[in-house]
Amino acid sequence: MKTAREYVQSLGQLHPVVYAFGERIENVVDHPLTRPHVNAAAMTYHLATLPEYKDLMTATSHLTGATINRFTHIHQNTDDLIKKVKMLRLLGQRTGSCFQRCVGLDALNALYSVTYEMDQAFGTEYHKRLVKYLRKVQDEDLMCAGSMTDPKGDRSLSPHEQPDPDMYVHVVERRSDGIVVSGAKAHQTGIVNSHEFICLPTVAMDEEDKDYALAFALPVDAPGVIHVFGRQSNDTRKLEDSLDQGNARFGTVGGEALTILDNVFVPWDRVFMCGEYQFTRDLVERFASYHRQNYGACKVGVADVIVGAAAAIAECNGVNRASHIRDKLVEMCHLSETLYCGSIACSCEGAKTPSGAYVVDSMLANVTKQNVTRLMYEICRLCQDIAGGFIATLPSERDLKNPEIGKYVQKYFRGSVSYTTEYRFRMARLIENLTAGTALVESMHGAGSPQAQRIMIYRQANLAQKKKLAEAIAGITGAPE
Ligand code: SF4
Ligand code: FE
Repeated sequence: MKTAREYVQSLGQLHPVVYAFGERIENVVDHPLTRPHVNAAAMTYHLATLPEYKDLMTATSHLTGATINRFTHIHQNTDDLIKKVKMLRLLGQRTGSCFQRCVGLDALNALYSVTYEMDQAFGTEYHKRLVKYLRKVQDEDLMCAGSMTDPKGDRSLSPHEQPDPDMYVHVVERRSDGIVVSGAKAHQTGIVNSHEFICLPTVAMDEEDKDYALAFALPVDAPGVIHVFGRQSNDTRKLEDSLDQGNARFGTVGGEALTILDNVFVPWDRVFMCGEYQFTRDLVERFASYHRQNYGACKVGVADVIVGAAAAIAECNGVNRASHIRDKLVEMCHLSETLYCGSIACSCEGAKTPSGAYVVDSMLANVTKQNVTRLMYEICRLCQDIAGGFIATLPSERDLKNPEIGKYVQKYFRGSVSYTTEYRFRMARLIENLTAGTALVESMHGAGSPQAQRIMIYRQANLAQKKKLAEAIAGITGAPE
């Protein structure tokens, strides 16, 4: 396994083409816009080296028997699924941010079972290729981004109907040594500080979309791959002072980018689906379920930080003994633990696939993520309510430290004398960072927008069977089917 330091050093050996603010970022490790995301991802390596977290953060490879980072593991039982949830909550608590590495983990797990089933159905050799690739990922302890979301163009049109075929990643050339692909992937969490990225289809496809039914893996610096780093609320503060950032060390959410594939060559041993549109639905749904499992874990870890920040600011403001404040803190805990229940439940109810790998209960995972789109907003609303309006009107760190007016800022922004003004400043900025802007949008649209979960909930709701239950209880017989 790599240490955090080795992970950071290994990024220096890659040379991805990354742009931000219209300029090339030569080194993501040293650049202030990207460094916090490197730090957050590095935590997935760091905690794995600590004896107290060995059980959660590491696993035994079913391929080699070696001890590996759990972020490269294929779930072998429901206990693995539960440990994944606990690992993500722990990391959310330690970073107060997105540590990005789960998407690649989910892509590998979804591909593991689906390639097995594809090979059974078609006699292809995708699973063998994937296992070889997985060994490399495990042996070198690689961080893989998971690349799912295509730009999608006109949402009313399927991939092959788009006026511009690049709205979905597709094959432009099949060669004896591999394929050439073109298109882009949007909202790529952690990709600029990953080693590899794994592309999956983003929607279920039919025969006419064959050229879009694709799964493959590439290094982030493969020729023809360009990353355009996304903006975040208050991101220019990363170029200024640390206190104003709120979470200077780990940043805000995952450092997402638009990744362009400009006629990129993929050798066959890195291609895991090419034309098997019949399996796109399974691949999309399995990946989505794994990633929706995560949201009652990583977000709950962040919610633990939010609850802590709310409790701290209440003390700073001298309102911690007010019964309505205590009740709001209880409500925040109730909501976040409810989310956690969903992630644990969909893991406990996981099932074995023919490949031997375990998948989560899809219905419960989708319900979990749907709850996140609502309850995280309520948790953040309550935190802002407790904190007070000053989180939105606070002057800058430079005013706090200014030799002329700093003394006034110190004096008038102090709350309880038990706390310094800087403590109150820091806590307010953290709350601003965690509960407003880009961070909250991630709870809505990360792992798929709310409607995507509702579609899957509807599909699995088995309303016909539930209708029969009602008819039986109501004493109705012979009702129309
Ligand atoms: Fe992992 Fe959560 Fe970030 Fe998704 S949003 S990559 S699950 S930390
Ligand atoms: Fe996410």
